[in-house]
Amino acid sequence: MNKADSERMAGILEEMGFQWSDSPDEADVILYNTCTIRDNAEQKVYSYLGKQAKRKHLQPDLTLVVAGCVAQQEGEALLRRVPELDLVMGPQHANRLRDLLEQVFAGNQVVATEPVHIFEDITKPRRDSTVTAWVNVIYGCNERCTYCVVPSVRGVEQSRTPEAIRAEMVALGQQGYKEVTLLGQNIDAYGRDLPGVTDSGRHQHTFTDLLYFVHDVPGIERIRFATSHPRYFTERLIRACAELPKVCEHFHIPFQSGDNAVLKAMARGYTREKYLRIIEMIRGYMPDASISADAIVGFPGETEEQFQNTLDLVEQVGFDQLNTAAYSPRPGTPAALWDHQLPEDVKADRLQRLNHLVALKAAERSQRYLGRVEAVLVEDQNPKDATQVMGRTRGNRMTFFTGSIQELKGQTVPVQITTARAFSLTGERLTAPLTLSAC
Ligand code: SAH
Ligand code: SF4
Repeated sequence: MNKADSERMAGILEEMGFQWSDSPDEADVILYNTCTIRDNAEQKVYSYLGKQAKRKHLQPDLTLVVAGCVAQQEGEALLRRVPELDLVMGPQHANRLRDLLEQVFAGNQVVATEPVHIFEDITKPRRDSTVTAWVNVIYGCNERCTYCVVPSVRGVEQSRTPEAIRAEMVALGQQGYKEVTLLGQNIDAYGRDLPGVTDSGRHQHTFTDLLYFVHDVPGIERIRFATSHPRYFTERLIRACAELPKVCEHFHIPFQSGDNAVLKAMARGYTREKYLRIIEMIRGYMPDASISADAIVGFPGETEEQFQNTLDLVEQVGFDQLNTAAYSPRPGTPAALWDHQLPEDVKADRLQRLNHLVALKAAERSQRYLGRVEAVLVEDQNPKDATQVMGRTRGNRMTFFTGSIQELKGQTVPVQITTARAFSLTGERLTAPLTLSAC
């Protein structure tokens, strides 16, 4: 989501006539889009900022901007800490960058962190890729997971209308984009804030309805989405994914912990058993589906036994990928105030043991690809080997094979998998055409 915000802000800067600079030390405007999900992400910005703040003393017309979640969290305190800053702007203000910079150029120091209605995105993002694109469907989050800073920095849920989302996808299809990832912190909450209910009392615009509404956009060959919340995940959504050919068989469903007492303390609103039932249901409809997730170790009070339940869940599910993190206390969140915080060394040890298991299980999962022919959508050259290109399978495994990027960029080609590593694959391109069902 931060990348999507960065691309939108870069698009606005470009429209204002700015050009990308290769070196931050040569830039006239520097914008840091920041993350505060964990403390180490937050600390990064302070180290970058220090250097540029010094440069400002030599070059007073340098414009310094901090955007994103650290900006939202710290607000004016950030100006007191770094008085050289010109603009502090929260993530809800990303689309207003032009306005805000104009105020700065008129001589003001500006803090934009008040909650706002996010106006329909009329800006043109400067997208990093010409093949795959992010499309926001819902901003903010109304959950209250006790460890999480997101609701306080990204604000309440605001869904974009189905028409606006489809229009953005149609434009992407016309520009030659092949894959869209629909984004929301809790994508299953999509539409709860939009008007309209069905005769049976269900919200009229659920995320599942949205998939049906956008899946036939011309030119777009693949649709992905993130992040799913186990509390709201439905069988109807799984059926839609199984039924709609463009929707990839990859589900990102964070479980956070495999222990019911920890899940309860996290206020996640589901049990380990419910999570396992979801995975079982997905595999019932799509046996080959890839499953990825996020997990936290060392939540306040987590015992060794409770941590073992997380290991056990990972063992049982066999994730294709898992983003893992040691619990980091965040400002303004309930869990940060609890007094049974775990020592850093215990958290680090659990993280290492979990990561070890994750790599083993992912390597096992990768084995199923060996010898198979996979449809790979080519995105780019392999940065480590110019004779190779890279792209992803429908299940989201990065795959490398020999080929020319000029010829293959944006194409979906059949690749026979010859090497399977934990998190990536290597293969050989087949020249026989793909059958429709494979692409
Ligand atoms: N909305 C998504 C995730 C948002 S944050 C969801 O509900 O799953 C991305 C991930 O960061 C979370 O899934 C969680 O695993 C991790 N995370 C969030 N807060 C954290 C904290 N305080 N310490 C460690 N990890 C955290
Ligand atoms: Fe944070 Fe929970 Fe919202 Fe995800 S669902 S963004 S973890 S509060």
